Amino acid sequence: MESGDWRYFKPFFLYLPAGLGLLIWASAHASMSSWMGGGLFLAGMISWTLLEYGIHRGLFHFPARSPRMKSFVYAAHLAHHENPTDIRHIFAGLSTSIPVSVVWFLLFWALLRQWSSAAVVLTGSWAGYLCYEFIHYSIHFRAPRTRWMRYLKRYHLLHHYQDETTRFGVTTPVIDWLLGTYRPVSAGASLRAQPD
Ligand SMILES: [Zn+2]
Ligand SMILES: [Zn+2]
Repeated sequence: MESGDWRYFKPFFLYLPAGLGLLIWASAHASMSSWMGGGLFLAGMISWTLLEYGIHRGLFHFPARSPRMKSFVYAAHLAHHENPTDIRHIFAGLSTSIPVSVVWFLLFWALLRQWSSAAVVLTGSWAGYLCYEFIHYSIHFRAPRTRWMRYLKRYHLLHHYQDETTRFGVTTPVIDWLLGTYRPVSAGASLRAQPD
């Protein structure tokens, strides 16, 4: 990593302290057991995998027609497909992640009817989101050190270089599997540019 690249790691600078702050606030204001809190946090992490899939498939690969939508989709994701190792296009912009966080939070508030519970679920989603950003960054910039990371790298690079209409999951292939876009990682598949 080159010096100066740290400024692109904005999601970590925002959501790590914000998540910690929100958890401290929720634990001071909520009367929930630690089991309940842990369950809500975990539910938030799992809910992230749905969001990751939904945004990637439904928004980032949306067949846009209007010039405005086209330029949004390009800046948000297609620029990353064009230049997968350009650090400027790796992390989601705060202008995308903040509005999504607000909608996600309101959705959980509508479901749970409790600010503190919705806040705990949101922090779980942020934890999942930061795992995603780290894994996606690692896929394109670091050599995999574990078997699982090697698998995720191949899985995601096949989305890049073989078929952009399948394998939308980055942190897990489970949602692809549930929704019919899962394809196995075949050992012989060629991966341009980034062998693992
Ligand atoms: Zn990628
Ligand atoms: Zn994509």
